[in-house]
Amino acid sequence: MLSVLGIPFDENSSFLKGSAKAPQKIIEAFYSDSSNAFSENGFNCRDTKKIKIIDEVKLSSGDLAIEEIRNKAEDELGKGNNLISIGGDHSITFPLLQAHSTQYKSLNILHFDAHPDLYDNFENNPFSHASPFARIMENNLVKRLVQIGIRTLNNHQREQVNKFGVEVIEMKDFNSDLSFEFTGPVYISLDIDGLDPAFAPGVSHPEPGGLTTRNIINIIHSLKGDVIGGDIVEYNPIKDINDMTAITAAKLLKEIIGKIMKP
Ligand code: MN
Ligand code: MN
Repeated sequence: MLSVLGIPFDENSSFLKGSAKAPQKIIEAFYSDSSNAFSENGFNCRDTKKIKIIDEVKLSSGDLAIEEIRNKAEDELGKGNNLISIGGDHSITFPLLQAHSTQYKSLNILHFDAHPDLYDNFENNPFSHASPFARIMENNLVKRLVQIGIRTLNNHQREQVNKFGVEVIEMKDFNSDLSFEFTGPVYISLDIDGLDPAFAPGVSHPEPGGLTTRNIINIIHSLKGDVIGGDIVEYNPIKDINDMTAITAAKLLKEIIGKIMKP
């Protein structure tokens, strides 16, 4: 069974709130009759014998929520389920990886984002959505972190990249022929702002010059490795136009489900 878990949490978003409203909108788009239920590799993503949608987990506020997210993820993984979480801001990835790292050894993360999210201390909030990958790396939760689509490195974040040995494919060096291979389980963390705002305007931190929807789908399809779970974060419905970002997030959700479930 694969669980899709909505996490309506945006308290650690530094600039704009709104991504807490994302899970409902993405799940609505996922079920919309404007499209059918299949991933491109032929998996029926609405097969209720294999896919369980948990619309939204109930959360407290503040640091307690981080603990609740970790516990809920541990529950699902403990049942032997795969898990894809729908945020919410990117801060949810730290507790989600804490949960996954207890179930999976030698984890890899494939991370799509405009931003490396490696700040040691952003506005005195250790759980900021600008810092989840610093927390993940300093706690040794994964053996390898590969970031794709990055186009906002400053000096501090370059130092963090070197300190943690992060493999960064900056957008300026990206080409569509790149393919990726991993040994051991792979977790996909997909920040919707890794896409160019032309494809996904509904984000809190739009950064022009990004990936196309097809770039991301092709990387997921061609990836060699055992994808076991992931998250889709940072969609902000307040900034969306005609639900186009919700529809894009739902499409990418289907493709990640298809990759995990291997029809
Ligand atoms: Mn981002
Ligand atoms: Mn991010």
